Amino acid sequence: MSGGDRKHFAREIHKAEVSFANLLEQAAAAHAVADAARAKAYALDCAAWNTALFIGELDHASPTIAAAIAGGFSLLEVRCEHCKHTEMIDLALVVQPRDRQVALMRNFLYCSPCQRTLGRKRRPNLVCLRPTDGLKPVGPSRRAKRAS
Ligand SMILES: [Zn+2]
Repeated sequence: MSGGDRKHFAREIHKAEVSFANLLEQAAAAHAVADAARAKAYALDCAAWNTALFIGELDHASPTIAAAIAGGFSLLEVRCEHCKHTEMIDLALVVQPRDRQVALMRNFLYCSPCQRTLGRKRRPNLVCLRPTDGLKPVGPSRRAKRAS
């Protein structure tokens, strides 16, 4: 390689390095936008399913556990129609395959007050998915306030 060729080659390598860094940056930004858009779509799926439950469209496909968590609706409210006991289930802590539909959770739940008092397993009804945001004030922000 002549001196001129070597300089030219070094310049090309440098250009490629700069464009590599730019591409990584653009890809990361595009992924962030895509993730935000997907989370918004999942949140809309959850809101639509809540509405379907409310109006009695029980055949409407429910979001999966993974979609509910990704959409920020990770709390499932259930209610036993027999004793009126209501409970909030954190889907993030549920030991179920993440690709399972939230609607199928009903098959794995039973009302504990009813089991205690009646000795019978009663399935609670699914009421709706609730946004996770409601839990946040109980977290670090409250602790931070106490510390100050
Ligand atoms: Zn009950």
